Amino acid sequence: MKVLILGGGVIGVASAYYLARAGHEVEVVDRQAGPALETSFANAGEVSPGYSSPWAGPGVPIKAIKWMLMQHSPLVVWPLLDPDMWRWGWQMLMNCNARAYAVNKSRMVPLAEYSRDCLKALRAETAIAYDDRAQGTLQLFRTQKQLDGIGGDVAVLKQYGVPFEVLDRAGFCRVEPALKLTQEKFVGALRLPGDETGDCFKFSTRLAEMAAALGVQFRWNTRIQALQVGGGAITGVHTDAGLLKADRVLLALGSYSPQLLAPVGIRIPVYPVKGYSITVPITEAQYAPESTIMDETHKVAVTRLGDRIRVGGTAELAGYSMALRQARRATLEHVVSDLFPKGGDLSQTEFWCGLRPMTPDGTPIVGATPIKHLLLATGHGTLGWTMACGTGRVVADLVSGRQPEIDVSGLAMSRYG
Ligand SMILES: Cc1cc2nc3c(=O)[nH]c(=O)nc-3n(C[C@H](O)[C@H](O)[C@H](O)COP(=O)(O)OP(=O)(O)OC[C@H]3O[C@@H](n4cnc5c(N)ncnc54)[C@H](O)[C@@H]3O)c2cc1C
Repeated sequence: MKVLILGGGVIGVASAYYLARAGHEVEVVDRQAGPALETSFANAGEVSPGYSSPWAGPGVPIKAIKWMLMQHSPLVVWPLLDPDMWRWGWQMLMNCNARAYAVNKSRMVPLAEYSRDCLKALRAETAIAYDDRAQGTLQLFRTQKQLDGIGGDVAVLKQYGVPFEVLDRAGFCRVEPALKLTQEKFVGALRLPGDETGDCFKFSTRLAEMAAALGVQFRWNTRIQALQVGGGAITGVHTDAGLLKADRVLLALGSYSPQLLAPVGIRIPVYPVKGYSITVPITEAQYAPESTIMDETHKVAVTRLGDRIRVGGTAELAGYSMALRQARRATLEHVVSDLFPKGGDLSQTEFWCGLRPMTPDGTPIVGATPIKHLLLATGHGTLGWTMACGTGRVVADLVSGRQPEIDVSGLAMSRYG
């Protein structure tokens, strides 16, 4: 079968690879010059099934107000006159209760765990390398109140059988020795040893090379203009390079997915939630992180990627603006120098931002649409790197008419009615 994939981010590339492995003829179209040059480029690097939770949860609205008032705020909302933003915000608010949280989490965790297992299998089969490490994530708490409040999280981890350790100072310094210099700032930590880390851009680039070797055609520097629909089915895709046709079309355009879908009558609640990262070269390895550290106070992740440190965070509702705001950079630099004062060279900081394709329920949208032969793989929000390989496998199974290995009924867009 010929499959046309719209979007060459980590989701599009992973889908292309697994579809090609399943024997399909695959073409990927993207406006960029190569794979993963938009949101998948410089994310925080966590492959974290352990933290696969929706942002919308009980108590989050009150916390959100406090976050917005902090000096190094993890949440910024620009008062835009954008009905999509306010509609999305309202839908998210409607998910801030225990019942919705439980449903959404139960849809996210299986995909994230399956995805991590697919990634492990892929590494074993192909030796793909991407500054990967499998040393877990460490959530650091600055106050006793934060540490005392992890009961709910621990209960959820137990419910899903996710291995974890609650560590005192000696414990977290054992797994992250560089924290010995700053340990007094923290009262304890929660460690998820099953989580992994790696550079999503390097991964996507290598996987795209492997997909090309399997016959996948990549059409870069090509803007997708519109979907063509006739008789209730997708009949083609208008691009700068003309009308492209295929037996199946997979739309994996990240935050831009709704823009192509709306003209053909499909509304999905995916909205861009901007995040920022900095990448700094490591100065002395002994003073740098070993894996990922989450600073719970600032909601910032600090990750070792080879000889670099990646620091990522902030949720900013600012529409599709790609402005690099210096206040966000200051927050990320503050956190990394607070945790690892001798770890990285801030004079060589690379500053970046990307638009997380977020759904209000935190769960991605994967599967069929009301338009025949058009499928979606979008809305992966904060966890697109974590969920990429699993999404690719599921897409390949759906296109091939096989039953996916996990239950994907809760991932379909039909959940929105
Ligand atoms: C600061 C930050 C930190 C993050 N940290 C993590 C993390 O630690 N772990 C994790 O799992 N996830 C993380 N994420 C989320 C993750 O990066 C995303 O979920 C993921 O990259 C989404 O991938 P995608 O392929 O859906 O979208 P994208 O990578 O954005 O790909 C979409 C592609 O569509 C193309 N496109 C769009 N419109 C058009 C058009 N009209 N014509 C042609 N091409 C088009 C774009 O060029 C792009 O290549 C983070 C995100 C941010 C911003």
